[in-house]
Amino acid sequence: MSTAVVTGGAGFLGSHLCEALLAKGMRVICVDNLDTGTLQNIEHIRGEDFVFLNHDLTHHLEIGESVDFVYHLASPASPIDYLRLPLHTLKVGSYGTHNALGLAKFKRARFLTASTSEVYGDPLIHPQPESYWGNVNPIGPRGVYDEAKRYAEALTMAYHRQQGVDTSIVRIFNTYGPRMRPFDGRAIPTFVRQAFAGKALTVFGDGSQTRSFCYVDDLVRGLILLAESGEHEPVNIGNPNEMTLLELAQTVVRLTGSESEIVFEALPEDDPQVRKPDITRARALLGWEPTIGLEEGLGRLLASLGHQAA
Ligand code: NAD
Repeated sequence: MSTAVVTGGAGFLGSHLCEALLAKGMRVICVDNLDTGTLQNIEHIRGEDFVFLNHDLTHHLEIGESVDFVYHLASPASPIDYLRLPLHTLKVGSYGTHNALGLAKFKRARFLTASTSEVYGDPLIHPQPESYWGNVNPIGPRGVYDEAKRYAEALTMAYHRQQGVDTSIVRIFNTYGPRMRPFDGRAIPTFVRQAFAGKALTVFGDGSQTRSFCYVDDLVRGLILLAESGEHEPVNIGNPNEMTLLELAQTVVRLTGSESEIVFEALPEDDPQVRKPDITRARALLGWEPTIGLEEGLGRLLASLGHQAA
């Protein structure tokens, strides 16, 4: 039986990843300090092949048993969290990634770091291929997250090139699904919460900025395929089905059967205008592409909240 360490495993993506790895017959060690994750996210997967370690990854991590894979997801991920925890976000991207890479090196494990489409900043190329170096404001409020992730990528490549660690880098685009927190500030859980409460859906700016939303099951399948491949260079994983935030809000209103109106609020600083992955590399290297469209994915999300999509 092979063993995977999942840092950030009690979070939204991490808990789905733990579940998928256990379903593959793997042993899973979930390392999380519960900053933004919760024990509820993993309570249904407690069992003898699943171990939870309450540990802050900015401190040295030791695991007694052999480890085959290290999936490094620990990091605040939503703007609300990283704006609240700016120094911690930089520390977990730097010290935390050092510690996760150190573990992979010591255990001779395959390593995957969860990077983000935010490394492209407010992109000047559309859609974004992995070869694009990005347009990031290092000193704006979002810089703590974007630069932490860019540093984590540089560190990962240095461990690979200089230390011979078997590394991979996934650039994750906006992903949604069950277990997102209703108040985490990301568009889909916010719109769903507002629609259920009969409150106005708050769209930033004029709603013309675009995003591409990937359902969590597709994303997790991509992470595992990449971790199990021999690839070292970054790979985008996300759904290229691009839409405006206004279209997203209208879809949520329709599917929830809500009578909420849509209102417009000031655009946050450095909010990217467009966002769409070029997934040519994921298709060619991993044979991966998303299979779950937005309406189906939103239907599954609503079902998980006990609501049938209209
Ligand atoms: P999340 O906030 O739900 O999960 C992050 C987890 O990391 C939480 O459980 C948190 O408690 C844990 N964590 C934070 N600091 C830690 C520390 N110092 N030590 C141990 N654990 C710590 O966020 P998520 O959406 O599941 O994101 C997971 C990863 O994927 C993050 O690295 C994020 O940057 C990346 N990502 C996510 C998305 C997305 O759309 N969800 C997009 C791009 C990248």
